[in-house]
Amino acid sequence: DSGLYIVATPIGNLGDLSPRALDVLRAADLIAAEDTRHSARLLQHFGVTTATVAYHEHSDERARERILEVLRGGGVVALVSDAGTPLISDPGYPLIRAAQAESIPVRPIPGPCAAIAALSAGGLPTDRFQFEGFLPAKAGARRGRLEALATQPATLVFYEAPHRVLETLAAMAETFGAQREAVLAREITKTFETVRRDSLGELHAWVAADSNQQRGEIVLLVAGCPPREQALDEATGALLKRLAEELP
Ligand code: SAM
Repeated sequence: DSGLYIVATPIGNLGDLSPRALDVLRAADLIAAEDTRHSARLLQHFGVTTATVAYHEHSDERARERILEVLRGGGVVALVSDAGTPLISDPGYPLIRAAQAESIPVRPIPGPCAAIAALSAGGLPTDRFQFEGFLPAKAGARRGRLEALATQPATLVFYEAPHRVLETLAAMAETFGAQREAVLAREITKTFETVRRDSLGELHAWVAADSNQQRGEIVLLVAGCPPREQALDEATGALLKRLAEELP
């Protein structure tokens, strides 16, 4: 069937490409890829010869128009990112909105996603979680973001760059408390896959002592704020508000 297919691709282990994803990539008229050279490796491995076109964060309306033209003509376009599920900290949002605006069918081909993989095996509550993607790069903005999340009861999910993970764990231990449980999930589905759950303080010490943990691709999970702390925080807030009202 014609339309725009949002195709999840492996986050490390090529065996995770689903048979349906492969069918769509083969049958598509065009593959819109975040990085065509990066995706070429995957496509070559599976013997997919479909034409590719670049579609990334900085793609302008012209690039989008080229894709929409194929779709308007009744063609099939597959959108892929470098790894995992498109649109999850990856490009695609404006394209999907544009397709929907023209009543072009948009269909998901679900598959790997680092955030969901980390949640599934991390050992923190998964009944409620909040996806935060990447924290801001600048220290002040990062700190502000973490402070805003300190009383959030849902499990928090972050993507993190390896060269920043130590600094981030330190900031998290300071903002959320060193006792708060967290998970470092690194190189999921790859040779050096590591999933470790511990307190933020312990995780920080472990990563500081072993520079191998500061390599590769990383998801950080942080347990939500325990209800008691949250209640205390809210009580303090209410008290401060009342005090402020009373003061001249
Ligand atoms: N769309 C992707 C997904 O569905 O997971 C995420 C893209 S985002 C640009 C890349 C980030 O995802 C990495 O910096 C890392 O935080 C996380 N990530 C991707 N692959 C991973 C893996 N195999 N193990 C751990 N984290 C991974």
